[in-house]
Formats: sequence, C-alpha cells, structure tokens
Amino acid sequence: IPTVEEFKLLKTLGKGAFGKVLLAAHKPTRHLYALKVVPKAKCTSRKQIRQVLSEMDILKIVKHPFCVVLQFSFQNSEFLFYVFEFAAGGMLFYHLKEEGRFTEARARFYIGEIVLALEYLHGLGIIFRDLKPENCLLSAAGHIVLTDFGSAKKLLEGEKTSTLAGTPHYMAPEVLKGEPYTTSADWWSCGVLLFEMITGKTPFESSDRMELYRAILGGHFKMPMFVSIRARSILYELIQTNPDIRLGTVDENDSSVSHNDIKKHC
Ligand code: ADP
Ligand code: MG
Ligand code: MG
Repeated sequence: IPTVEEFKLLKTLGKGAFGKVLLAAHKPTRHLYALKVVPKAKCTSRKQIRQVLSEMDILKIVKHPFCVVLQFSFQNSEFLFYVFEFAAGGMLFYHLKEEGRFTEARARFYIGEIVLALEYLHGLGIIFRDLKPENCLLSAAGHIVLTDFGSAKKLLEGEKTSTLAGTPHYMAPEVLKGEPYTTSADWWSCGVLLFEMITGKTPFESSDRMELYRAILGGHFKMPMFVSIRARSILYELIQTNPDIRLGTVDENDSSVSHNDIKKHC
C-alpha cells in the first residue's frame, strides 16, 4: 500500500463536497491517477462518517466497464486518500457546456453506456442517486466512467429508502416528497440527463428552489421542436412522475422482467 509521498501532485481535477480530486503521478510507476483527498476534519458528524464509509463499501464491490475503478486507498493522520483510475476524457458536463448540446446519436451512445452501468448497479441493489453531467466522466477512449458513489445507497432485498439525496434539478418527485423510493429514482435522473444532453438544458429550471420543486412535482416540461419522435417518447417515459410506470422500473413481483425494457429503446 502506497503513501502520499509516492505521488507527485500535478493539478486539481475537481472540488467536491468533502475534498479535492487531484491529478497525481505515481512516481515509482509513472502512472497517472485521480487522487481524491478527504480531510478527516471535514467528516465530523455521524452522517458524514456514514457517507464516507458507505462510499468506500460500494466502491469496493463495483466492477463494471463504465464505472470508476478504485485502485486502492490509504490514509494518514489528517486525510483519507482514494486512488482512482484517471478518466482522461473529462466530465460530460464540460463537453456539454463547450458544445451546447449533443447530436442524438452521440447522446444515445452515452446514455446507452449509462443505462448499462445503472442496470449493473441496480442488480447489486445499489441506487446511484446522483446522476448528473458532473459525475459522468469520459475515459481516454471516450467511454462513460460513472463516478462519485458518495450519494449511492445499497438496499437490502425489498428495502426502500426515503432519504433526501442528490442534486435538486435531477431529483425524482418521489425523492423530493420524502416518499419511500427505490432504484426507479435513477431512471428519472437518467431522463433528465438525456434531455440535457439533447437540448443543452435541464427540463426543470428555476433559480427559485420552491418553484423548481413545484415544477418537478408537476412533471410538465417543454419539449423543443427539434427533438425526434423516438427521443421524445423515451424522455416522456423516463421523466414520468409515477415511478411504477416509469421506463426502467422493474416489476416487483417478477424481477426478471423490466416493466419496460429500456435497452430496446436505446
Ligand atoms: P464529490 O463527491 O465531491 O462531488 P467526485 O468524486 O464527484 O467528488 O469528484 C469531483 C470531481 O473531480 C468530478 O466531478 C471530476 O471533475 C473530478 N474527478 C473525480 N474522479 C475523477 C477521475 N477518476 N478522473 C478524472 N477526474 C475525476
Ligand atoms: Mg461529484
Ligand atoms: Mg460525492
């Protein structure tokens, strides 16, 4: 297990809720990594500690081509260090801001990979809960690298949760309402993300928090003219306020059939 002295810190890749993510070169191997540094002093409340431990537990079991790989982790007296494979292609967020919006073909490519990652996580009982362009990175080859399992939650068989988690613009109505919810909440966020990729904007926008919540709970959004019929139908089925009939939702009585097989649409 390495120590932080073995890494040359090159630049900041991102800043987050708990700490920083740095581009770091491992001196002995010259390999580049994304080093997430979490100051222990920032994890004081019981909730924060639980979150950091849960992120770690989930990262240890997640192994999928479109999910970030935690190579190893270590700590010193002050910090927790997580060493991730470096996603050299940057955030989807960055590319989207740069290009305004993506062609539907490109959006389909990304969302297809995200769907596979979500299906894998849901199969493990994990709700991702923070799907947004900042957490979708790209590998050097241009594939999706889903990152940031800090909000993810592993459910027991048949369990539901009702904790408020995620980023407001991407949060499903049932999450906002504090109702018990399950993996279906990720499919709503997936719809919001697809809409944003195709149009350059999220479907529900307001600088006023209460107004934003009201819009999400209502579930009505404007569909730009240029969106194809095929994309529209997927968007309406994902951004569906009723989680029971939302695209991607798994029938509880028969988990072998998706309520509506999302892969057919991608
Ligand atoms: P937080 O939970 O604080 O949001 P993240 O794990 O999302 O932390 O990391 C914050 C940012 O750091 C990301 O949005 C991304 O820009 C960058 N980042 C994180 N992991 C990697 C990685 N493996 N490769 C490249 N950049 C990364
Ligand atoms: Mg993040
Ligand atoms: Mg996080």
